[in-house]
Amino acid sequence: MFAFYLSIAAVCLIAVVIVKFIKSPETRGAKGETIVARILGRTIDGEQYVIHDLLFSDKNGNSCQIDHVLINKHGIWVIETKNFSGRIYGDARRREWTQVLAYGNEKNKFYNPVKQNATHIYRLAEYLDEKNIFFNVVVFLRRADISRVSAENVFDVRTLSVIKRRDTGLNLTPEQMQNFYEKLIKLKNESRITKKEHIAQIRDKRNKIRSGICPRCGAKLLLRNGKDGCFFECSNYPDCRFTKNLD
Ligand SMILES: [Zn+2]
Repeated sequence: MFAFYLSIAAVCLIAVVIVKFIKSPETRGAKGETIVARILGRTIDGEQYVIHDLLFSDKNGNSCQIDHVLINKHGIWVIETKNFSGRIYGDARRREWTQVLAYGNEKNKFYNPVKQNATHIYRLAEYLDEKNIFFNVVVFLRRADISRVSAENVFDVRTLSVIKRRDTGLNLTPEQMQNFYEKLIKLKNESRITKKEHIAQIRDKRNKIRSGICPRCGAKLLLRNGKDGCFFECSNYPDCRFTKNLD
């Protein structure tokens, strides 16, 4: 009888551990990224190439982390994933987007992911010395309602697969695709930057902004008033286009 109770207790303990694991944010994020990886499919020579978690630093030493890159004959799709739920409000040109939770009782602002991803694309374009072949894609992983988002190429994870068939007017040759893929894989493999360093760099950047210094060029930051509120702008504008919202 004791053995019977013991086995029930063991089963309950295992169940609790499994539920905790499934519910943890890390698992959710990783699960979402796996879903995206599955939707994008695998690298197929000559037809498409896929790279996940591309972490690198540019020639100025700025670290950059790209969730997914898909290369097909229609172009290079740079994909930023957002693990948010609730209702999302956003516009391609706005600096900030809003996540609304709990029937409007909780609102969180976050930096426009289209703009964030545009920075990733800028760095890739610089590295590959190419223009007009990149497409900026943002995908919301969880059951976010993005019907109020007004920006091109922002997807719910369930509709992401359409990008694989979308005609962009481009027609890259298998050789071009392979060439881009090999360069990016080289970038990924040669990058000595670790996740830890990437996070440390983000922290360092935040500290510089707090002290009123542009993290990109080292010039002084100026406080400006925009339609979305106050923000910092580099005094070196337009040579340096660094801006940061006041939060
Ligand atoms: Zn600057």
